[in-house]
Amino acid sequence: TANDAVPLTRDWLLGHPLPQPSADGDKDERGRVLIVAGAGEMPGAAVLSAVAALRAGAGKLQIATPASAAPMVAGTVPEARVVSLPENRSGALSSSALDRLGSLGERADAIVVGPGLLEGTSTARMLAQWLVALPAVPVVIDAAALSALEHQSDAIAAAPVLRILTPHAGEAAKMLACERSDVIARPVELGIELARRFNAVCVMKGGTGYVIDGPSLDADAAGSLLVNRYGNVGLATSGSGDLLSGIVGGLAARGASPFLATAWGVYLHAAAGDALAERFGGPLGFLARELLDEVPALMNALT
Ligand code: AMP
Ligand code: MG
Repeated sequence: TANDAVPLTRDWLLGHPLPQPSADGDKDERGRVLIVAGAGEMPGAAVLSAVAALRAGAGKLQIATPASAAPMVAGTVPEARVVSLPENRSGALSSSALDRLGSLGERADAIVVGPGLLEGTSTARMLAQWLVALPAVPVVIDAAALSALEHQSDAIAAAPVLRILTPHAGEAAKMLACERSDVIARPVELGIELARRFNAVCVMKGGTGYVIDGPSLDADAAGSLLVNRYGNVGLATSGSGDLLSGIVGGLAARGASPFLATAWGVYLHAAAGDALAERFGGPLGFLARELLDEVPALMNALT
């Protein structure tokens, strides 16, 4: 239960360090991250998630985004290789995007899928097919991509990918077919249910965030549940969650285990919010994109 959660403190992080690149490492060794995100109406979600992965120290960035978002994304993130995915007239990914994603996914050290993608049954089905076919690579599944888990859920649960789920309360409620208020009342119990069902690391986002390690729940119940008390209400702002998924993906690309990458990501995201709140004399008014610049110093302070 929530009372058994171990606090996610700086001491915990110091005791669970991130892998560091060798001094002469090249960008491939630093980790290749693939971000599958964005839409014509929401190219910024792909940008925030992708830049967050670089701020977390990943070496090489690829963004796959629907064709109508690709020019804006490429112009805003000059560091990235931007792959334009075929979309249909409504802006959803068309099924021919699957081939492209298949070959990109095989070369990635970590993947983030979902931020800003248009919801829709056809996209969800296609992403489900992709997830089932991927090799054993860490995959952060966020936002619209969470509904892919409704399709082929047994095959996805059995697939070798290392899943990290980052639902907010509304997304968790939809996955569990319950009310948002139930998730807010019992985030740990319901998070454990999700983590078990998909054999995943699951973040239950919100004012108090939890990180649950599904794969190790049975072996180490106490060590599998962390509670985050950093952060503030200023983080409840557009784009905030997109950034979290990118940080976690970037850390996983560097070689952190899914649980470690998620724990560090949740801390860095929340602590960045605290740093901005301190600078502005209060929690309101900072932008998600401003969180990005806070991440390296916070990370390096614990390294
Ligand atoms: P999303 O709803 O996907 O944009 O994600 C929102 C992010 O902000 C998550 O990381 C939440 O944990 C965080 N967040 C939302 N509300 C609060 C709050 N009241 N206090 C602290 N963090 C919050
Ligand atoms: Mg979100």
